[in-house]
Amino acid sequence: MKQKQYAVLGLGRFGGSIATSLYNMGHEVLAIDINEDKVQAYSNAVSQAVQADSTDEKALKALGIRNFSVVVVAIGQDIQASIMASLIVKEMGVKHIVVKAQNDLHGKVLEKIGVDRVVFPERDMGARVAHNLLSPNIIDF
Ligand code: ATP
Repeated sequence: MKQKQYAVLGLGRFGGSIATSLYNMGHEVLAIDINEDKVQAYSNAVSQAVQADSTDEKALKALGIRNFSVVVVAIGQDIQASIMASLIVKEMGVKHIVVKAQNDLHGKVLEKIGVDRVVFPERDMGARVAHNLLSPNIIDF
């Protein structure tokens, strides 16, 4: 598989799981969180973990975010920060942007911004588990 470069903004349960999974699959992963403790916790689990505010355009520019193949915005509760970070990376020209949404309205705003994929982790996982219960023989990744 061709190696891609991924940036994950926000290292909660969702972002942290994506970042470590991609890294363990052999990809380059830059992980960013505003919280220094989170950055420390992930420092050996990804290629590079950096403390930065994802709503700070200058900071994202300095980290070269526009050069990443995929950016995942995994900031949950601070919807304003999620929207601002998504808009910044979209305007930088990142080709593929995936964003975790907190609710329907948040998801609609993200679609208007033009992100490539909006994810509702609990809802999506619930649907997958239901499908898997009905078709247990289908291998699910
Ligand atoms: P999860 O369900 O994935 O655990 P969550 O939806 O509860 O997370 P939060 O815990 O609010 O979401 O945020 C996820 C991470 O994003 C946290 O580690 C938080 O420190 C980080 N974060 C919040 N705001 C910013 C920001 N502006 N820049 C970078 N990281 C941020």
